[in-house]
Amino acid sequence: MKGWNSLGEKFGNYKGIGIFASKTFFHKAGVTIQLKSEIIDSMRSAKNTDLLALYNVDTKSTGSMKLMLSPQVNYSFGKLTVFGLYELPLYENVRGTQVVTGTQFTVGISYRFFTTKNPVCDDALFKYQCPMHCEGSGSNQPGKCPVCGMELKKVN
Ligand SMILES: [Zn+2]
Repeated sequence: MKGWNSLGEKFGNYKGIGIFASKTFFHKAGVTIQLKSEIIDSMRSAKNTDLLALYNVDTKSTGSMKLMLSPQVNYSFGKLTVFGLYELPLYENVRGTQVVTGTQFTVGISYRFFTTKNPVCDDALFKYQCPMHCEGSGSNQPGKCPVCGMELKKVN
């Protein structure tokens, strides 16, 4: 009875796929265009149960295939990022009679509590770098890493 709920129904499998392209401007603003597709299989009712009919659920009216275009914009102020997401349905094929979602608009704020420095950036800035990529170990002279004490390695 895995996947069946107490009403003797099983929700359809969900498959989703998305492709996106993004561009960043001045390390602060970004634009992302995402093309999303979702396929939901029909709901199934358990054998010898007509509870679905009892609750007025028509299994023939479940399951759908959708294609959405969702452009997203975001802007960062230091550790704070504000984003807006718009969801525009391009194609919707639902079985039977169902309530479908129209266009959706989402606005949000995200805050990065921990920012990790990209070691690749450090490597590009300094001639010597700790082999463990310890933060702040970059140097232009050979020596020992101030964090872990390992011999600094020359960066090619
Ligand atoms: Zn180190």
